[in-house]
Amino acid sequence: MGSNMAPSYANIYMAVFEETFVYPSGPFRSVRGWMRYIDDIFFIWSDTEEHLRGFLSQLNEVYGELQFTMVFSAEKLQFLDTTVYPSSGGLQTDLFVKPTDRNNILNFQSSHPRRMIESLPRSQVLRVRRIVSEVENVNKRLDSMGLKFLQRGYPSNLIKRHLDQSKRLKRQDAMGPGAINPKKVSKRIPLVTSYTSCSNGVAAIVRKNWGILSQAFPNVPEFQQPPLLSYKRTPNLKDKLVHADQKSLGHTIVSRSGCFPCLNCCHCNSLLKGNSFTHPYTGVQYHIRGHYTCSSTYVIYVLQCPCGLLYVGETTQEVKKRLTQHKSKIRNGALELPVPDHFHKFKHNVSQLKFRFIDGVPQPRRGGDRETMLKKLEMKWIHRLETLEPKGLNREFGLNIFL
Ligand SMILES: [Zn+2]
Ligand SMILES: [Zn+2]
Repeated sequence: MGSNMAPSYANIYMAVFEETFVYPSGPFRSVRGWMRYIDDIFFIWSDTEEHLRGFLSQLNEVYGELQFTMVFSAEKLQFLDTTVYPSSGGLQTDLFVKPTDRNNILNFQSSHPRRMIESLPRSQVLRVRRIVSEVENVNKRLDSMGLKFLQRGYPSNLIKRHLDQSKRLKRQDAMGPGAINPKKVSKRIPLVTSYTSCSNGVAAIVRKNWGILSQAFPNVPEFQQPPLLSYKRTPNLKDKLVHADQKSLGHTIVSRSGCFPCLNCCHCNSLLKGNSFTHPYTGVQYHIRGHYTCSSTYVIYVLQCPCGLLYVGETTQEVKKRLTQHKSKIRNGALELPVPDHFHKFKHNVSQLKFRFIDGVPQPRRGGDRETMLKKLEMKWIHRLETLEPKGLNREFGLNIFL
């Protein structure tokens, strides 16, 4: 169950499996109530133990690689976080806690949004309320849940408030999704940021100045209420220390950094080679990280005209193909484009065009939009090398890729 998609795949697979092999099978007639959570199944068997084992081996014979294991009992059974047992003419449920479970409730002092931490006791006591069916067990389980929160530094009055609320609640009322968040779904626009120690300050600034926006645009309904501040997780120590995303060492060490000719195309002799370059006007030196040739893809390249003006471009295709396009645009006098226009005005010849490859976007190993990453990198270099007209040959770019 590693990837995000795994539960969906498992669900689809299991649903087809059930329809094809379980429901139509003869022994399924002895099943009373069949409930599945992804690939965990709970059911009640109304026949002998021998026939139950027969049913299991029948299912295990369908595909050799798909094997079910079974736990059964006439007295008591654990399923997910629930214990099920027959009592008073029906089935009762109780909270199941592994004997080895440690108290891993989020510490009250943890640097998480306060509201999230303060709402944790409510969701946990509601869980108890939902799972524990027998009245005499409810208070016992609630009190031990309260104790767990107390051990993790939660203030006793906060815990008591949630416990009291939950004890007053009827079990049936704890069942619906509204029990956790009784407020109606808000139509406020969410402002999603990473949570940091500055987040509360940011929220205060937004609330304080929101009036400016709502007064300036009284007709925009989204601006009439302040946004709903919501937070996403920031990288934690684990993300920083554990890197499965290592570059393959063999490759990066063996190939030298810099811009190299492929020695097999018509552009090689106009290529400015080397592992660093100097800006013709500012004199700043830049190092090229990565190994690029005329055949590289997802590359940032720089065109340089005889007067030393620069043009920064990006391409997802082999960069030599892009250079061919640039040269033919200059030859054909495509004056609507900045580079041909400049070459025409200053009577440069296409053979005077020089270029180098300065950066690139490697294949992202964990997914991600490589093309957008490349566009952003291009913006960064246009800004860094100051190549917008009139200092360089790039024209205004849209900011929409950042949105
Ligand atoms: Zn080449
Ligand atoms: Zn020029």
